[in-house]
Order: sequence, then structure tokens, then C-alpha cells
Amino acid sequence: MKNSEIFEKDKQNVMQTYGRFPVVIDHGEGATLYSPEGEKYIDFASGIGVNCLGYGNKKWIEAITNQASRLGHISNLFYSEPYVALAEKLTSRAGMKNAFFSNSGAEANEGMIKLARKYSFDKYGRGRSSIITLVNSFHGRTITTLNATGQEHFHQYFFPFTEGFRYAQANSIKSLKEVYDGDVCAVMIELIQGEGGVYPLDKEYVTAVAAFCEENDLLLLVDEVQTGIGRTGTLFAYQQYGIVPDVVSFAKGIAGGLPMGGIMASEKTSAVFGAGDHAATFGGNPICSAAAISVLEQLDEGVLSEVIKKGEYIRSKIEGFGCGNVVTTRGLGLIIGVQLKDASPKEINAKLIANGLLALTAGSDALRLLPPLIISYEEIDQGLEIMKKTLTE
Ligand SMILES: *Cc1c(COP(=O)(O)O)cnc(C)c1O
Repeated sequence: MKNSEIFEKDKQNVMQTYGRFPVVIDHGEGATLYSPEGEKYIDFASGIGVNCLGYGNKKWIEAITNQASRLGHISNLFYSEPYVALAEKLTSRAGMKNAFFSNSGAEANEGMIKLARKYSFDKYGRGRSSIITLVNSFHGRTITTLNATGQEHFHQYFFPFTEGFRYAQANSIKSLKEVYDGDVCAVMIELIQGEGGVYPLDKEYVTAVAAFCEENDLLLLVDEVQTGIGRTGTLFAYQQYGIVPDVVSFAKGIAGGLPMGGIMASEKTSAVFGAGDHAATFGGNPICSAAAISVLEQLDEGVLSEVIKKGEYIRSKIEGFGCGNVVTTRGLGLIIGVQLKDASPKEINAKLIANGLLALTAGSDALRLLPPLIISYEEIDQGLEIMKKTLTE
């Protein structure tokens, strides 16, 4: 199909829920993508933080094809090896007790919210079901996770939303205490607000939140859908914050490009769900599990420490561009926000893409960079050159 034909068929047959860029991607290698006509793009987006191993990764492809030729799906009424092997690898590296697998980030967060409410119900009965989330957070697009999201513009049209969410200001323990009441069972946070603008939480604040949760028997729920799976330079961001969540959710990068999400529980919350309390038909799918095992095997300590170095390299280069429209950069590892002034991130991003660099926006004033974790310095330099040219033109 020609590009024009693809655009037209999309318009005719697909719900117009995305503001897509006029770019067709056909295939890729490393962190470089190609259109069907052979136009080249450096990828600083990873399909929104998903393609952590980039494109054409041989071991990942082998893991998937081998598994597909053995068993593509089996119901969760039976055992199979891939999800068991994955759960063992994941929990041991995360320092968590056990895992539940689902298919996406929002669904993972739904599971986390259900678990928190049941933990509280089992112990205290009804009436203790509210969850405090943070202003400017993002937790997903379901009727529940939209309301968990602390941004007003997500709370439209789709009423009634799931009740029971309160919003506290990020980095203010005072705000958290003001919002807290006896009906609260958990606090749910992103350690770095991704969609909201790449705002890392302060370490002291996170320590104080963890202590407050402990004191009041609130579960600390950490949404690592975007920050997990090596994105920040450790397997999970909480490993750099010196806390252990009661429950953590993950998705995006876990299977390197196949749909998978899930949650992990600590010892304390590991037995909250019993048979019949939660389920997902596709959860722990053998092919996705095989892909995720390959991701975890490849994201070893060497690769993860490079993530930190690459992040620092990219940020120092951008801050050294000397263009007036870059205010600052923020983030951790390879989740990077580039705060702009006197420039619309949306317009700049469209220009970046037209010039051959795939990037993202976040919040109202920032570009968001989420390159594949295995991106080479050569590709980073090519991407940065496009960025510098675009920002100064
Ligand atoms: C992307 C994202 C989600 C939603 O994930 P989906 O897979 O799109 O449902 C939830 N939380 C955070 C922090 C995210 O970045």
C-alpha cells in the first residue's frame, strides 16, 4: 500500500482516536526505523517506552518464534513453564514476593487498586476504600484509572467514574496529610510522572510517603508502567528511591513490544488475592512471557548502568545546545523531559518527526524522550543532531 492509501483506509475504517503523524513505519534495526519508502527515523520514543530492546533484536525474535511454534496460548486453568519462569526472574530481581500478569498498564493498575481495596476490606471491613493519587499523575484510560489520574481534563464525558480517589500535590507531605482521612486505604504514585511532564518525585518526599503509609496501614502502590523495566537504569525506579512498594505495577517495556502488564506484591500483600478474585484470559500468555524473559535476560547490570550514562550524555548535550528555547532537562536514565519555553512542544515534536527523529511530548511544556535502552551512541548523536537543528531553525 502507498502511504496515501494507508492514510485514507485509516480514516475510512478506524476510529479516529489518535492524532497520528503522517508517518508510516515498516521495519527497524537497533534504534533506527524505516518507512516503506526507505525514509529513516532515529527513535527516541520506543513506541512510548515499550521497545526497550529496539528493533530486530535476534534473541527476542528467537524466543518468540520458538515459543509460538510450541504453544501460543493456554488458559490460566492450566500451568505452563514460561509465566512461571518469568515470575521467578522478575520477583527475585525486584525483591518482591509474587506476581500477577495482565495485558496493559491500565489493567495492571486496576489489579493494583482491587488488591489495595481487598487488603483493607479483609482487615477493616467496608468504608475504607479511597486511594490518594497525585495531581498531574497518569494511571490509564479505563473508567477507574481515568479517575485515578490526577488531571482534570481526563475527568470528562465518561461519567460516572469509579469513585474513591483523592488528589494530593506531588512533593508535599503536608498536602498528603490534608487529603488523608479514615476512609483511605492506599497511596498510589508514579516515582517519575511520565505523561504529566517527566517530573521525578523528591527522594525525601517518597521516604516520607512510605513512612506515612506504614504508620496508617495504607498500602504504598507504585505505578512503574513507564519507569519500570530498566527505563531509569535500575530494573525498577523504586530501587533508586530506597523504598519497597506494597504493590508495584509494570507494563510498557516488560515484553519488549508485545502486550503485557502485571503487578507484583510484597510479602505483606502476597496472599490478598485468592482463587477467583482476579483473572485475565490472556494474562501470562506464553509468547509474551517468553518475550519478557528475553527482555530480562538482556537487561543485565552492564546494560542498565549504560542506561544511566546514556541518559546523562543526552541531557548534557541538550543543555549544551545553547538554544534559547530549552529551559532545562529532567528525568532519570532514559526517561528524559526537555522543558521548552516560547515554543509549543507539539509543534516542535511534529518538526522533529518531519526531520527524522521520533520523540514525544509530556505535560504542557516538555518534550519527552524514551529511546530504546540499547540505543547506540552513534544513533544518539544522529538523533541529537536532528534535535539541535530543529530547535535552532
Ligand atoms: C502508559 C501508562 C499507563 C497506561 O498503560 P496502558 O498500557 O496504555 O494501559 C499507566 N500508567 C503509567 C504511568 C503509564 O505511563
